[in-house]
Amino acid sequence: MPIKISQESMCVKGDYQSAVSKPHQLPIYATSSFEFEQIEQSIDIFTGKSNGHVYSRYGNPTVDTVAQKIADLEAYGTGLDAWGFLTSSGMSAISVMMYALLKAGDAILTQGDLYGGTNELFVKIMSKQNINTVIVDLSDLDAVEYQFSTNRNIRILYIESPANPTMKCLDIHALSKLAKKYGIISCVDNTFCTPLIQQPLSLGADIVLHSTTKYLNGHGNSIAGAIVGYDEKLKVQIYTGLKLIGATCNSWDAWLIYNGLKTLALRMERHSDNAMKLAMFLESHPKVSKVNYSGLKTSVYHELAKKQMKYFGGMLSFEMDGTMEAVLKMINKLQFCTMAPTLGDVDTLVLHPATSSHLNISKALRQEMGITDGLVRVSVGLEKVEDIIEDFNHALK
Ligand SMILES: *Cc1c(COP(=O)(O)O)cnc(C)c1O
Repeated sequence: MPIKISQESMCVKGDYQSAVSKPHQLPIYATSSFEFEQIEQSIDIFTGKSNGHVYSRYGNPTVDTVAQKIADLEAYGTGLDAWGFLTSSGMSAISVMMYALLKAGDAILTQGDLYGGTNELFVKIMSKQNINTVIVDLSDLDAVEYQFSTNRNIRILYIESPANPTMKCLDIHALSKLAKKYGIISCVDNTFCTPLIQQPLSLGADIVLHSTTKYLNGHGNSIAGAIVGYDEKLKVQIYTGLKLIGATCNSWDAWLIYNGLKTLALRMERHSDNAMKLAMFLESHPKVSKVNYSGLKTSVYHELAKKQMKYFGGMLSFEMDGTMEAVLKMINKLQFCTMAPTLGDVDTLVLHPATSSHLNISKALRQEMGITDGLVRVSVGLEKVEDIIEDFNHALK
């Protein structure tokens, strides 16, 4: 006999019934925990005997669906059985991976021109746990091998290609191969490309990271990150780190990525097309001294990019002749493009690195990395390219 409950208690109970028909779109599971009918079910899931959800910090159907989709896109065509996790931001994807895999005394080998936040995480935070960062020019394979063979503390090779905001490309295949030779884990931040343009796993990398905030979401309305790999030992270590550090993604942000992913292929093709046309326009403009875009035949990275990228992507930067004042004036004259410190959205976004993302880096180091006062970064959007070109044409006058 079922027991009779009061009207007051009816308010409290969440009598959710599983949908009988399959929803056409992924539901947002806004629940912190999952119920069991029988205690044995709970025991089986907690002891790992069967799969299932228990608590959303450990896993959630909305979040896990999107994570696996990104993993499958990264591993597409490789034959690898990839796993993926979503995190609360791109930065937490990087920190969870590092803290899950490294211990005090270990070191990371990486490039100087990393995403600003990543560089600060390594230098300001991880150094306090005695995890050190060694910076070399990753395009110099001899220098990389010298580090691997002489510094036995190096456990992770961390790569960004193309690099921000100079769009320098690195040979992911050659670097991953070298890392493998020395038993070092190779990781690639693939935020700028997405798996529709570049698949680091197919080039030999062990782990791929994303700020899904950018192209994967694509609409500028969610902050999240992703960690993808295929090695089962790394999976266990990273999953343990993720659930205990607690930097999990929530179902709402995951769902926004899910929506964005549907048009990813269309968007990446159009972003790349528009960027190519804008790059060609800028290259021919008398007030522009240099355009950094690997799609241009004049780019020193053109051949490498052709080898490891399907398209050349939506990001470019260019240098204007003249003073900082002239560059800032040009940016202020833009009427159509948006000034915003993010990238990968549907609309064209313009950033002046020297006064924003790279403000805290000394001018000498900035110059060394190619981030001059005259450098302008553009995340080329999906608009009619004629409108984007006309805006720059007008502003450059
Ligand atoms: C934005 C970005 C990050 C950081 O991601 P968040 O989602 O802002 O935490 C890391 N790497 C690259 C290349 C980025 O563009």
